[in-house]
Amino acid sequence: MAFSSFPRPLDLDPQVVTFGCRLNSYESEVMLDHARAQGLQNAVIVNTCAVTAEAERQARQTIRRLKRENPSATIIVTGCSAQMNAQFYAEMPEVDRVLGNHEKMMSKNFAPVLSDRVHVTDIMTIKETSNHLVSGFENHVRAFIQIQNGCDHRCTFCAIPFGRGNNRSVPIGEIAAQIRALTDQGCREIVFTGVDITGYGADLPGKPTLGQMTRRILSLTPDLPRLRLSSIDPVEVDEELMTLIVREPRLMPHLHLSLQAGDNMILKRMKRRHSREQAIDFCARVSKARPETVFGADLIAGFPTETDEMFENTLNIVEACSLTYLHVFPYSPRQGTPAARMPQVEKTVIKERAQRLRMVGEQRLSAYLHNSIGQNRSVLVERKAKGHTEHFTPVKFSASDQIDRFQGHIVPVTVLGVEGKNLVVTRNG
Ligand code: SF4
Repeated sequence: MAFSSFPRPLDLDPQVVTFGCRLNSYESEVMLDHARAQGLQNAVIVNTCAVTAEAERQARQTIRRLKRENPSATIIVTGCSAQMNAQFYAEMPEVDRVLGNHEKMMSKNFAPVLSDRVHVTDIMTIKETSNHLVSGFENHVRAFIQIQNGCDHRCTFCAIPFGRGNNRSVPIGEIAAQIRALTDQGCREIVFTGVDITGYGADLPGKPTLGQMTRRILSLTPDLPRLRLSSIDPVEVDEELMTLIVREPRLMPHLHLSLQAGDNMILKRMKRRHSREQAIDFCARVSKARPETVFGADLIAGFPTETDEMFENTLNIVEACSLTYLHVFPYSPRQGTPAARMPQVEKTVIKERAQRLRMVGEQRLSAYLHNSIGQNRSVLVERKAKGHTEHFTPVKFSASDQIDRFQGHIVPVTVLGVEGKNLVVTRNG
């Protein structure tokens, strides 16, 4: 689990350390806005994640280091791990304030002085999303925006609903206003983020689907050149969304799938909603209609009761679904989840299987990158002569391009070569 930022030497401006998902990154921007608006100084917000035990261990380690290096700083802990283990963080001497996932979105909770140290509500009682117009992802030409929060599913390995609560969606009007505010500031790409975005709309009047909302948003924001979806559940993609995925040029041809496994018995024990065959059919259908689409997926190695044969099915679904980008998670039991009570696979076996999956992933990615040489792509130019293609492949511009003056522009390029996980490109024209 990567940090997305570690604070520069502490100055008066509040800072944030973000763990976990894109939704956390979006919320970290909101919290920074609140902290600045409240005049909070000499403070670090640690926005935690509870997806794995390792993520929580890293958060605790970071909190201790922050306080050791900045004894006078105010340490505010929030995020899913704080939501689920508030008392634990309240008892850490390094921690000055604990905010739940609902409370962290309220400006008043970032006042320099607050009565209580712990402000955490039962997240299952929260019915609405607290949406905020972020003032912009610093210098970013791409921004994550929250369209949905929480989840109504109860996959047997997952603790997220206990940190995020039940499914709740942001009304279409608010999403459109947020995108307009960001494109007015030069943002050229928006990433729809949430916890279970294919659950979008189930709680709204008229129950608009993710596909209907996306079509409406695209018509309300003609100035937005690029839209991306964060992780989707392939079996919950509605027909309208499928049409956009295969036909809409402003919806980027890169899909990250929440697959988790490739074996039907394991999928059943995970309480996932799709079968191996449905996942393969989904990718085949998209590839047939829009062949340039690139797929990524989350896969868990070593789920309880997984035999060698079942694992082989997860290994070979990589090829069967033409996956290029893999996020591999070695199974780690989450307290209170049904999977934690199932017969566990040995840690060494989990580790070995995760390693094998990662190796297959690296081979697929390397093949994809090398097959791109000589091809044309379109790149959104970001900072320091870097950017991403429409398939979300990171690129580096050749030195001769002097590309910085094109920051924030989408430019046609030709792929010259491969450098690590990057494509080396040159601007056409
Ligand atoms: S869909 Fe399943 S894995 Fe995803 S957040 Fe909900 S319970 Fe967790």
